Amino acid sequence: MVSRPRRSPTCGRRPWRNPTTSCGPVTRRGGSPCQDRRGRGSGRARRIVVVNPSSDHDGTGPADVRDLLDTLVARGLAGTAPTRAEAVAVLRTGDDDLLDVVAAAGRVRRHRFGRRVRLNYLVNLKSGLCPEDCTYCSQRLGSTAQVLKYSWLSTEDAVAAARAGVDGGARRVCLVASGRGPSDRDVVRVSAMVDGIKREHPDVEVCACLGLLRDGQAERLAAAGADAYNHNLNTSEATYADICTTHEYADRVQTVARAKGAGLSPCSGLIAGMGESDQDLVDVAFALRDLGADSVPVNFLVPFDGTPLAGTWDLTPQQCLRILAMVRFVCPTAELRLAAGREVHLRSLQPLALEMVSSIFLGDYLTSEGQAARADLDMLADGGFEVEGARGAPGARVTPGDRSEVRAPSGVPSSEPGVTVRRRGPGTAVAPNA
Ligand code: SF4
Repeated sequence: MVSRPRRSPTCGRRPWRNPTTSCGPVTRRGGSPCQDRRGRGSGRARRIVVVNPSSDHDGTGPADVRDLLDTLVARGLAGTAPTRAEAVAVLRTGDDDLLDVVAAAGRVRRHRFGRRVRLNYLVNLKSGLCPEDCTYCSQRLGSTAQVLKYSWLSTEDAVAAARAGVDGGARRVCLVASGRGPSDRDVVRVSAMVDGIKREHPDVEVCACLGLLRDGQAERLAAAGADAYNHNLNTSEATYADICTTHEYADRVQTVARAKGAGLSPCSGLIAGMGESDQDLVDVAFALRDLGADSVPVNFLVPFDGTPLAGTWDLTPQQCLRILAMVRFVCPTAELRLAAGREVHLRSLQPLALEMVSSIFLGDYLTSEGQAARADLDMLADGGFEVEGARGAPGARVTPGDRSEVRAPSGVPSSEPGVTVRRRGPGTAVAPNA
């Protein structure tokens, strides 16, 4: 399969070609010169307030940000989608409007989900050595990323790993395996894991993520007790050939449809920060809505060294928040999940993202480490969020009293819970914290 260079949706120019990758053109750092001129990814305040009606699909640009947000909240509360022009406009709001955008998306979030957050826990059943060439993936064909590589976990190890996540508060366990798709033998193997987890934790949802499914495989996973199946679209149909040449966008759509057809809850999401345009992000969000994804994970590219997208840091924390807001408006009833890359891209703005999403991954990702699970729980407590199923009570709120209590180094007395007595800088022989 040959990947196809595409033209920029805004200026019609070809994207920059990455001569170092073996899998075709990869757009990077804004994807096209026109995007750079708009200040995309630069971190500058972007005072783009009005969508040019002539430049978008449906020509219904809102008059200003206040009107835009009022419209989007009304649509979100009604469960209806914005126009594509409105969705693009969210991505082009300026930094001065950022908190208003978050607040508006937060209203839609609270209407459906209140302040509850569902914790998900990933179990990487089989890591690395994939024959596919997804450019963003550290497990891809030819990846030299120094990630863990191992074949299938045993059923006992998979159940034990799930147990750790459930004990930490997770209410959905995601069983993930690298590869193009499972063999029938793999489906039998994962079915035993699903069964083992369900026997121990009947109230915990189990989601399988095994790649492209063939006829009948989704039905077998459902019969084993799986609740959901994850397969991300990742990016727009127009961009897909830029990020993968070994399978097609349509293959992914078909797998999501197969899972849904078998009665599994469809989970499908996207990765932002791969050089896509604003229009691409809106396109994939609408595609996920059209697919009926119940759960929509939003990943931000983690650009591993040893992959074609190494060094691609296009996103700012502010733009990550706009992307989450846009997806929340497009998919107002979906379980919106803050996924990989949140720590490194949102950084200190992570708590604002929680106002818009209703779900996060607890702990580590497939091949990269997340922040400490304890730090996640602290963040939720500080924001007044309710962790689903916390302490056995549905909707129980995590309170500040649940935060980590003493951060002082071992053996050093702390005057108050959560207060670390200074032992560095002036008055000590230890370098100052500067
Ligand atoms: S199919 Fe999955 S594991 Fe394989 S390279 Fe693509 S994203 Fe990575």
